[in-house]
Amino acid sequence: MSGEKTDFNSSGAFLIDMTKCTGCRGCQVACKQWNQLKAENTKFFNGEGYQNPPAMSEHTFTRIKFRDYQKNGQNEFAFYKEMCMHCNDPACASVCPVGAFNKTKEGPVVYDTKRCIGCRFCMVACPFGVPKYEWSKAFPLVKKCTGCYSRIRAGHKPACATACPSAITYGPRADMLKEAERRIAARPERYLNKIYGKEEAGGTSVIYLTALPFDELGFKQVTKRPLPSYTWQALRLVPGVFLTVGGSLSLLSWFTHRKDRLKKEEEQRQACKHQTKEDHHDCC
Ligand code: SF4
Ligand code: SF4
Ligand code: SF4
Repeated sequence: MSGEKTDFNSSGAFLIDMTKCTGCRGCQVACKQWNQLKAENTKFFNGEGYQNPPAMSEHTFTRIKFRDYQKNGQNEFAFYKEMCMHCNDPACASVCPVGAFNKTKEGPVVYDTKRCIGCRFCMVACPFGVPKYEWSKAFPLVKKCTGCYSRIRAGHKPACATACPSAITYGPRADMLKEAERRIAARPERYLNKIYGKEEAGGTSVIYLTALPFDELGFKQVTKRPLPSYTWQALRLVPGVFLTVGGSLSLLSWFTHRKDRLKKEEEQRQACKHQTKEDHHDCC
């Protein structure tokens, strides 16, 4: 589906209201359970602070980032639920040479492990740092949040949205945007007057409301233009990737031509067999 101009207003989207998040991390646990992801060795009070584990990985598709700050002399916490943004025009899909990523009409950007050749272009292209590599495996592929596509196809909400007691609402993107605008208008003192994901990266299926400025919570600053228009330009500016891109594309081209060559040979063989039967002589 990527590349087509599709209206994603009726596709499923997450409205994540960080002002209503309690930091319970039920979403993290539900994601692990549903996707059967293994636990990670983590340490409290390590690196950035209270979040656990310290970063998303092949075993952690979503995590709650903690930010402590002072308000009226009181210690307060603010949270940020990191996950794949399920971009309307995903950079990961645009750069994948074998079409392993696909933006579905239902909203999630899905990933086909059978197609992946492990080139890691998607990891470089994604402006949100979402796809992770299976470094622990002998033949690593890429892993990321699936948007719980199988649940959505079965008429359920994503596991994290189902588990969340307060902050995540899931529904058609247009309704989620309308609801976000309604909340900002009703409680302007509570919310930053901006919806993250409405326009970022050309619009995403995950949209956020916060009280604090986005950069203070760790949200990435990204362009409003859909990112595929920048992707190859950006990749060429990264020397290591330039070589990798060249090398991998050559490899891909070799595979493609090899496949075509084998197909042609097989067709010739079949034609010969047919002719041999009729002429009673060998042609190949
Ligand atoms: S956030 Fe990254 S991995 Fe997710 S759809 Fe967008 S470009 Fe792809
Ligand atoms: S949508 Fe599914 S895979 Fe993605 S973070 Fe939520 S539970 Fe995990
Ligand atoms: S389940 Fe909801 S309230 Fe709990 S940490 Fe996740 S987003 Fe926040």
